[in-house]
Amino acid sequence: MTVIERFLKYVSFDTQSDETTGTTPSTPKQMVFARYLQSELEELGLEDISLDENGYLFATLPSNVGREIPTIGFIAHMDTSPDMSGKDVKPRIVADYQGQDIVLCEEEGIVLSPKQFPELSDHIGEDLIVTDGHTLLGADDKAGIAEIVGAMAYLKAHPEIEHGNIRIGFNPDEEIGLGAHKFDVEKFGCKWAYTMDGGEVGELEFENFNAAAAKIEVKGLNVHPGYAKGKMVNALLVANEFIGMLPADETPATTEGYEGFFHLIGMEGDVEHAMLSYIVRDHDRGKFEARKAFMLECAGKLNGKYGQGRVDVQIKDQYYNMRQQVEPLMHIIDLAFAAMKEAGVEPKVKAIRGGTDGAQLSFKGLPCPNIFAGGLNFHGRYEFVPIQSIEKAMKVVVKIAELTAKRY
Ligand SMILES: [Zn+2]
Repeated sequence: MTVIERFLKYVSFDTQSDETTGTTPSTPKQMVFARYLQSELEELGLEDISLDENGYLFATLPSNVGREIPTIGFIAHMDTSPDMSGKDVKPRIVADYQGQDIVLCEEEGIVLSPKQFPELSDHIGEDLIVTDGHTLLGADDKAGIAEIVGAMAYLKAHPEIEHGNIRIGFNPDEEIGLGAHKFDVEKFGCKWAYTMDGGEVGELEFENFNAAAAKIEVKGLNVHPGYAKGKMVNALLVANEFIGMLPADETPATTEGYEGFFHLIGMEGDVEHAMLSYIVRDHDRGKFEARKAFMLECAGKLNGKYGQGRVDVQIKDQYYNMRQQVEPLMHIIDLAFAAMKEAGVEPKVKAIRGGTDGAQLSFKGLPCPNIFAGGLNFHGRYEFVPIQSIEKAMKVVVKIAELTAKRY
């Protein structure tokens, strides 16, 4: 089986996760895919294969040298986004892409066009795997799984390439933020690992947001509007005032790169009572703490104006920037850099404007930068992946294994 055949097989499994079920894995169909993968790993002759009741599948490619080499790992997630169906995915290969519009569904006029998605133009001359316009593709992250399994098969077939113990781990529920949740870092037993879950070729990520969620509750005071002067406190208006106190140019729509934001994600209420939901994000830990403190300060000002206890802010940290965990171990970044170069890929370091499983794993004691898997336009019908990108990512995995043995 080639890496592409593997990928096409994997996307035939519907593995959409669901944040409403409360179970692990969140959907039983992820377990079906996990069992299939398990059989593939057995067929490949990997060792210590284990699939736990939560759907975490681990396996080992044993070292082929006598000396001690650090055990490293590669991780990818099995689920696909709840945002779009992943059932009956019908992948199609557009060979030797020449920059044209790609009609995904003729009948409904669904077109993947470089006018809308200029990144298509970076892949002229390559072979693109696209959808039929009715589902996502699932390259996020089945491309990652295929690259890892493909690399293990390659190393098996090339015993002349020396490597240490390589652990691989496939987890459920990344798309609902729970991929690292029940990941048994101790059992995985690696010095460090890489998630294969990034986008464009060359991406290498070891910085993500610090993240918190904030709930602002406003208690109003309702009085007959005809007799309300000096008495009524309209919770909706106070909530609106709170919104107005936060900087209008620090939202997701007005920021990029290392700029953090306050993001209003929900509001509801009436005169008596109003609720605002925010997420707060910043790469810089100090600025992150300052953002949270500022929200409390705003609430304090409103309480000063309308009476104590009117506005209550509850803030919960969600995850932190993995940079602080990875920084003392920059050699694992250098290694990925060198592996990419040897695989003919130009590394592009990028700060993630979000979180990753790798961040959570890093704080659980498994430093875990993220490497490109090659797919683009995740979570929707326009998702695609160039065959050449999958092949390059697979090569990077092989090179990391090889360089680890050479350097340590
Ligand atoms: Zn992903």
